[in-house]
Amino acid sequence: MTQAPPAPTAPPQPRPDRATPDDTTRYDVAVVGGGIIGLATALALVQRFSGIAVVVLEKESDVGQHQTGHNSGVIHSGLYYRPGSAKARLAVRGAEQMLEFCQEHDIAHERCGKVVVATRESQLDRLANLAERGAANGVPDIRELGPDELHELEPAAAGLRALHVPSTGIADYPAVTQTYRALVEAAGGVVRTGVEVTGLGSTAGGIQITTSAGPVRAGRLVNCGGLMADRVARLAGFKPSLRIVPFRGEYYALRPQAAGLVRNLIYPVPDPDFPFLGVHFTRRVDGQVEAGPNAVLALRREGYRWRDVSARDLWDSLSFSGFQRLALRYWRTGAGEIYRSASRGAFTKALQELVPEVRSQDLVRAGAGVRAQALDADGSLVDDFRLIAEEGMIHVLNAPSPGATASLGIGQEIASMAGDWFSAGQFQRPAPPQSAPPQTAPQT
Ligand SMILES: Cc1cc2nc3c(=O)[nH]c(=O)nc-3n(C[C@H](O)[C@H](O)[C@H](O)COP(=O)(O)OP(=O)(O)OC[C@H]3O[C@@H](n4cnc5c(N)ncnc54)[C@H](O)[C@@H]3O)c2cc1C
Repeated sequence: MTQAPPAPTAPPQPRPDRATPDDTTRYDVAVVGGGIIGLATALALVQRFSGIAVVVLEKESDVGQHQTGHNSGVIHSGLYYRPGSAKARLAVRGAEQMLEFCQEHDIAHERCGKVVVATRESQLDRLANLAERGAANGVPDIRELGPDELHELEPAAAGLRALHVPSTGIADYPAVTQTYRALVEAAGGVVRTGVEVTGLGSTAGGIQITTSAGPVRAGRLVNCGGLMADRVARLAGFKPSLRIVPFRGEYYALRPQAAGLVRNLIYPVPDPDFPFLGVHFTRRVDGQVEAGPNAVLALRREGYRWRDVSARDLWDSLSFSGFQRLALRYWRTGAGEIYRSASRGAFTKALQELVPEVRSQDLVRAGAGVRAQALDADGSLVDDFRLIAEEGMIHVLNAPSPGATASLGIGQEIASMAGDWFSAGQFQRPAPPQSAPPQTAPQT
């Protein structure tokens, strides 16, 4: 897909005539969901199409309250993903874009690098494959380390061999999200919070959106509903075969006296069947070191504790053939994750594989995030980002990690897909001013 033009360095001034949230406006595009992907999409639309009227509809009282506000804060380098996949392409490019964006907008970030550590002989082949995969994806400067070199970078980590990936970074994604919002609004887009989309219908002129705050009209729609994206798609009459199954990941933080055990980011070799499993250590931009997340079935899609239960959400997961197949195949793995959720000792033991000196008393609970993991009906995890264009709408049906890293690129791909919606010349950006033709010396 084509790449959108680069972001302007200074945001344009607000156009108050477009920023009125009274619903007599007919927007050209409505974006459902004010997470990092919805706002990156709105940003790419206002940057690419001059004069376009865009509204973002977010049900919470602020943007970035779900996956975006509960993630690990890592700028992923693109190491893990299948070569040729959208994840590989968008993470490698996204890591650079995200670092530049943070620098340009003065958002806390750091290119601190990470190590992926093999602690058992059985992981050495996978570690070597990972290095090849990273190189195939264009991840720069990956280096294999023996135990001594690992010790120099991360003195408390123990391992047989490791990879050093210097392009991995950390960022303040909530601040990135707020900045996307500010740029969208400065370019005349509208971001409405506290507005839940509850119905979608087609009209001759586009889409009639029913919301908790009254109707909204739009020509086209992009669904960036995160944990609810499959339900928003169904509101539009589109029945994707996949379903979003929520997996909660719980974090601990290291107490300040133990935080020195981790300099940057320490990761295990991933399980190819479940690349998101395996607790790791992450230093955040505020200096706190987090350990986790694990992965257990969330009993509510946007529920962050065991006691957050929704009968509808639970039924949606348990009655789905894809989840039943996954659970039958991998019940042992699932049981292990539940055990680590219930037992701090078991969680500590998993962490000690990477950093043996960590003690259970070094850990304090530090919240949780819920991943929107799309599952196909055959029980396989949908691995790649999945964007589906259907009848005047684009549905983002799978945008798990590295979605935050890749958000600018995902937004640009969606804006590029949206180009098919508009007739030639509509929303065309004025041609840049021509520089004066060079003066030719008068003939004498
Ligand atoms: C535990 C965890 C760790 C992660 N770590 C990383 C990491 O380190 N690096 C990285 O790059 N990525 C990471 N990710 C992935 C990343 O956070 C996501 O890819 C990204 O946040 C997805 O953004 P989103 O906008 O699609 O979803 P969300 O942030 O969930 O936003 C969706 C929004 O849609 C709104 N919404 C839903 N339904 C409606 C409706 N009907 N009406 C109006 N609004 C609605 C919701 O309220 C929500 O705000 C992690 C994710 C998790 C969960």
